[in-house]
Order: sequence, then C-alpha cells, then structure tokens
Amino acid sequence: MERRIYTARLRDKIVLSESAQCYHLEFDVPEVEQFSFEAGQFVSMVAVDAQGKHQSRAYSMASAPRGNRFDICLDRVEGGFFSNLLCDLIPGDTIQFDGPHGFFVLRPPPVDTILIATGTGVAPMKGFVEQLFPGEAEDRSEGAHFWLLYGTRHESEIYYRRYFEKTAAEHSNFHYLPTLSRPPEGWEGLRGYVQAHVRQMLQDHPGILSRNSTAPPMRAYICGLNEMVSANRAQLKELGWDRKQIHFERYD
Ligand SMILES: Cc1cc2nc3c(=O)[nH]c(=O)nc-3n(C[C@H](O)[C@H](O)[C@H](O)COP(=O)(O)OP(=O)(O)OC[C@H]3O[C@@H](n4cnc5c(N)ncnc54)[C@H](O)[C@@H]3O)c2cc1C
Repeated sequence: MERRIYTARLRDKIVLSESAQCYHLEFDVPEVEQFSFEAGQFVSMVAVDAQGKHQSRAYSMASAPRGNRFDICLDRVEGGFFSNLLCDLIPGDTIQFDGPHGFFVLRPPPVDTILIATGTGVAPMKGFVEQLFPGEAEDRSEGAHFWLLYGTRHESEIYYRRYFEKTAAEHSNFHYLPTLSRPPEGWEGLRGYVQAHVRQMLQDHPGILSRNSTAPPMRAYICGLNEMVSANRAQLKELGWDRKQIHFERYD
C-alpha cells in the first residue's frame, strides 16, 4: 500500500528547557478534520537535505488524539539534520510526515502500570496520561494506578513538570516521580537513575513481585535511549516479570 504523506503546520512552539534546547511543538494537519492515532504512536517526519537526499526521522506524539492536531517534543541534537530543522520552525511553517506508526500503545483493560522514561522519552507518556486522565472528559483509568518514573539530569530538564504535578494532584491513582542524576542542593525528590527506583517501587506495592498474586499482572511501558530501556527490561525480567508485561520504545 502506498504510504500517505501529510502536511503538518506548526501552530505553536514552546521552549521546555533552555539549557537542554528542548522544544514542545504543536501541529495541525489542515487537509483532514481528524488525524487519527493512538496515544504513544509516532510520526515519521520527512524532508530533503542539502544534498537532495530524502531523510526521515521518527517522533513520538506527546499528546492524545484531538481533532486534526498532534504535539511532539524534541531535543536539538548538535549537528543533527532533522532535530535542527524542526527546532528552527516558526509558527505557520509546514513539514511533511507520514504515519501514525508503532505499537507502543496502552493495552486494554487498564491495570496497575509503571511508565518509565528518560529525556524526550516522556513524549508518549504524556500522550498516555492525557488519554487516561483527560481533564474535562471522563477518566479512562478505571481506577488502575499509574506511576510515572521520569529520569533526567537537571531540575531544568523535567519536561511537562507542571502538567504531571497537576494531574497527580487531581488523581489519587496517578503518581509522578521525577528523579535527578544531578540534583541541585536542597532537592527533596528522588535521586539517581530510574532503574534504581523501579525495584523499590515494586517492593512498596503489595502483590506485584508475586506472579501468584490475585491482582492482574502489572504492565510496564519504557521509553528512551536503548541503554536505559535494556537495563529496565533486564531488571523486570529478573524480578519475574513475563516479557508480555513489558512494552518499550527505543529512540536509538
Ligand atoms: C520510534 C522513535 C521515536 C522517537 N521519538 C523522538 C521524540 O519524541 N523526541 C526526540 O527528540 N527524538 C525522538 N526520536 C529520535 C529522532 O528520531 C532522531 O533520531 C533525533 O531527533 C536525531 O535526529 P537528527 O536528524 O537531528 O540527528 P542525525 O542527523 O540523525 O544524527 C546526528 C548525530 O547525532 C547523534 N544522535 C542521534 N540521535 C541522538 C539523540 N537523541 N541524542 C544525542 N545524539 C543523537 C547521531 O548518532 C549522530 O552522530 C525517536 C526515535 C525513534 C526510533
């Protein structure tokens, strides 16, 4: 089947972190009324480089579906072709893409779940959280608990912090746990890498370590660079998790 190329128009651009050069970009797709996708999927942005070569790069959608719109969040990679092209767009500019793609989506029904992300790996997690706890609309979490364990280096790189904090304050079954590998003095939150906290979290949550528990098996969704994803997958397997409980998206 021939793939369909769409044109996305940048509506808004927000700097998420000056120091990390991370941007939140909001697009619409003017040629359709509804751009259908599942939270957690990605689009492939396409463009031609200075040598006339077709380039494409994947970007997870950092939003749940809403009309013909979608958001992404990305870091400017030094010397990188596509991240610089996208980070330099200004509202009104257009870019071509195809999609949606990917299977990193929430499996029904909702069960207690750990969302583990680092850096811009938080993008699909934001989509998931918007999907589960959609503000004005009805809560879709069905009472299951969701823990978002988010790792980054500095406090200034906690992307979407206010959104996640607000959602956690409004929903007792959403738990937001940012952890910093280089915390500032006085930081009272978690410290170190995400994987160090996964085991502790599971020990704190009764019934999870035992596969014979009467509770339905938990799930984990992991997104970010391969090293972190692999470390967390290995740890969960060591703790007795079945691979079917573990879903992941690797950015490299
Ligand atoms: C399924 C999927 C979803 C993705 N979603 C996102 C997303 O939501 N947000 C996002 O920012 N990125 C995401 N990525 C990564 C993205 O596709 C690009 O790889 C990234 O933006 C770099 O592209 P570039 O063209 O700027 O760099 P390139 O021109 O491809 O590479 C330039 C140099 O930078 C290095 N490099 C490539 N990627 C990175 C990186 N992430 N950090 C540091 N160095 C790097 C390369 O090894 C190379 O040396 C995703 C990747 C996949 C596979």
